Amino acid sequence: MRDVVVVGAGPNGLTAAAELARRGLRTEVFEALGTVGGGARTEELTLPGFRHDPCSAVHPMGAGSPAFASMPLDRYGLRWVHPELPLAHPFPDGSAAVLARSVGETAASLGPRDARAYRRLLAPYAGRWDTLAGDFLTVPWDGLPRDPLTLARFGATGLQPVAWLTRRFRGEKARALISGLAAHVISPLTTPATGAIALVFALAAHERGWPLAGGGSQAVSDALAGYFRDLGGVVHTGVEVRRLDELPPARAYVFDTSPTALARIAGLGRAFHRFRYGAAAFKIDYALDGPVPWSSPQARRAGTVHLGPTTDEIGTALRDAAEGRAPRVPFLITSQPTVADPGRAPAGKHILWAYGHVPRGWDGDLTDAIERQIERFAPGFRDLVLARAVAGPADLALRNANYVGGDIACGAFSGLQTMFRPRLARNPYATAHPAVFLCSSAAWPGPGVHGMSGSNAARAVWRHLRRTG
Ligand SMILES: Cc1cc2nc3c(=O)[nH]c(=O)nc-3n(C[C@H](O)[C@H](O)[C@H](O)COP(=O)(O)OP(=O)(O)OC[C@H]3O[C@@H](n4cnc5c(N)ncnc54)[C@H](O)[C@@H]3O)c2cc1C
Repeated sequence: MRDVVVVGAGPNGLTAAAELARRGLRTEVFEALGTVGGGARTEELTLPGFRHDPCSAVHPMGAGSPAFASMPLDRYGLRWVHPELPLAHPFPDGSAAVLARSVGETAASLGPRDARAYRRLLAPYAGRWDTLAGDFLTVPWDGLPRDPLTLARFGATGLQPVAWLTRRFRGEKARALISGLAAHVISPLTTPATGAIALVFALAAHERGWPLAGGGSQAVSDALAGYFRDLGGVVHTGVEVRRLDELPPARAYVFDTSPTALARIAGLGRAFHRFRYGAAAFKIDYALDGPVPWSSPQARRAGTVHLGPTTDEIGTALRDAAEGRAPRVPFLITSQPTVADPGRAPAGKHILWAYGHVPRGWDGDLTDAIERQIERFAPGFRDLVLARAVAGPADLALRNANYVGGDIACGAFSGLQTMFRPRLARNPYATAHPAVFLCSSAAWPGPGVHGMSGSNAARAVWRHLRRTG
């Protein structure tokens, strides 16, 4: 008899497993694929020696995660690699807004008037990442907030749609920068609470940076799995779980899966029938003959580069994807790991990671639109492409069952689901089955490689096991 069985070895499943094993519980993980990692993997997707991240690449939330901070992941090989600039948001004239480690450098890139507005927006949270992240990324029943005033202030500002937040700024540089940050949740800029996403990403850059994992995102998963194994945990790979009764007997089952898969596997019928999936990603990984020839010097120094010169253009692209249309001009999130970690490609060569947003289940090809958008900011880019690995929604869903229809967030950021994932409940990790729990990014606080859904779920499981003796 095990104490806990975890289904899925993504960052949340592995975090839940490690936290439960750390409490002395006999815990085993079953993963469908041949290796651990879920959305934090690294593979030679294009050519030998080019080490790409098929899913996550940049880790503001990982570096700032209270769950990861509580584990000795550095001893298991995890090394955060910081590019000179976390993020650049270039414009076609060769200039750029930047999100730098310092608030001052960021503000200076926005012009004098907007510099003041930026400082005012961020000032209340300066130096408070630990308490704010602890309060914001956990759940209310886990105890009173440590800094309720800052949390309340953050909530009041963050609950606004980012389209309202950007009204504090006069210039397009600041507006586009802030809109681009919120676009990480693939929801129209008018969606309530998208302001919180922009704020969190900006604050994370100043407080913890937007690092990459040295050697690739697989290092995050390998460190989590290594720590878990040293705590006595067991990982089984290559086992796709289809029914609960295929699993060994345990006192609790924790699912790092989509709610739909959990309901199917655990026989919970329509338990999550109200849960909605969101728009999808269209991802391309490039092997390049040299660095991306960005016109903007700042973009050449940045780990992440956002491509969408106006709030209107970004908003249209996101709205199109959410409403079922492929964007004519996609907003792109790109990352160039080899700028900070040259060992990810053969000497002198580079990799680029890029994705845009498309409707869920879309079966078209966005490659040309993506490359036209990159060329706008980096003329000559196409000439450097040695190979590309293209993944539309169906390919992403094949890579990972949690990306339903290509929805890389495992659940839409819309309506009540922005705040209450996977449903409105005091304990969002519990299900109708008393021994079955959900720990994936479908549950609060949602997508990203931070392990916080797993950590919160682990505490819910621990309480359940203590209650039931
Ligand atoms: C293209 C792309 C870019 C991204 N970029 C970033 C980024 O830069 N930074 C960031 O922080 N986040 C990023 N993300 C999001 C991030 O990867 C996810 O939010 C995160 O991985 C979610 O973790 P998880 O543990 O909840 O689920 P996952 O990482 O999806 O892991 C779930 C695991 O469960 C397994 N599984 C599912 N069903 C079963 C079953 N029936 N039986 C056994 N195993 C099963 C899957 O194989 C998988 O290994 C990106 C995602 C994608 C796809």
